[in-house]
Amino acid sequence: MSAENLIIMGSGPAGLTAALYAARADLSPLVFEGFQAGGQLMITTDVENYPGFPDGILGPEMMDRFRKQAERFGARLLASDVTRVDFSERPFRVWVGADEYRAHTVIIATGASAKWLGVPGEERLTGRGVSACATCDGFFFRNRDLVVVGGGDSAMEEALFLTKFASRVTVVHRRDEFRASAIMARRVLEHEKIGVVWNAEVKTINGADAVDSVTLVDTATGTEQTLATDGVFVAIGHLPNTALFEGQLELDPKGYIVLAGDGTTATAIPGVFAAGDVADSRYRQAVSAAGTGCMAAIDAGHVLADGAGEVPVNSGNVSPAT
Ligand code: NAP
Repeated sequence: MSAENLIIMGSGPAGLTAALYAARADLSPLVFEGFQAGGQLMITTDVENYPGFPDGILGPEMMDRFRKQAERFGARLLASDVTRVDFSERPFRVWVGADEYRAHTVIIATGASAKWLGVPGEERLTGRGVSACATCDGFFFRNRDLVVVGGGDSAMEEALFLTKFASRVTVVHRRDEFRASAIMARRVLEHEKIGVVWNAEVKTINGADAVDSVTLVDTATGTEQTLATDGVFVAIGHLPNTALFEGQLELDPKGYIVLAGDGTTATAIPGVFAAGDVADSRYRQAVSAAGTGCMAAIDAGHVLADGAGEVPVNSGNVSPAT
């Protein structure tokens, strides 16, 4: 059974940068794009902090450029989701449904996804007032009243960003102090357009065709109140997409992949690397994800050059290793 040199899982900035570097190193990487091809930037509008784009660029357009650049050098992209992995022996085994693939090295770049509250009304009204991305959707709420849920740096950042558009932003937090860094918390607390409801959880998000209010429950007294609002921005953190790797790789208490700690992208399993948000709960930036994707491709190249596989292998069609 033939094995790929390198399988990359995920096609956000980390996965596609890894693909670009690996392709240019003649490794002919096989990329499984995953359920959200392009990653989180696909649900973003303007990206203004990626160096090299002084006028900004739309997230989906940027990811399209990443993809074309990787393909130009021979990366093979499959629009499939990996459903199972077995890293217990080499070559590593990767399945998409019943189709099995093998690879001498693997780069995991499956990213993270926004967490949702899971309350009634949230899913139904997503895109109609409920959002997890102020930079994507804030623009639509000019002169409106908005609620931001959460008490971490993301919630602070979302609230501050939304003040550009909204007439009033109310941060709803389930405790009586923010988890956010002091400086971000202070900016929120001192902002004239922002108010805070402490010790409150969202019970339901209400509205027929669009959000018109939220029902809040006081976490101390259980008292309910209805707060009129035009939109709800959920900013309660992200979950790394690592369910696939439970029992195979060490995950930290929040579910992020634990790296070997030697300054590379290596995990505890030689030949398995992780890049981007899946192993990064701290920075979570497109440019840092791209940087670690580059590192992972170079790290995988070293392992392959040291004799873990043939280089190059399978530069033609993609077919499962049956
Ligand atoms: P986070 O620090 O984990 O904060 C999540 C917040 O949401 C917490 O306040 C938490 O409440 C609340 N929360 C979680 N689940 C909830 C639920 N089911 N219902 C209601 N509230 C809930 O996540 P984050 O804000 O996304 O930040 C993640 C990391 O990125 C942090 O290290 C942060 O510093 C970093 N970051 C930095 C910046 C920046 O520096 N500009 C910007 C964004 C993110 P509790 O406090 O009660 O747990």
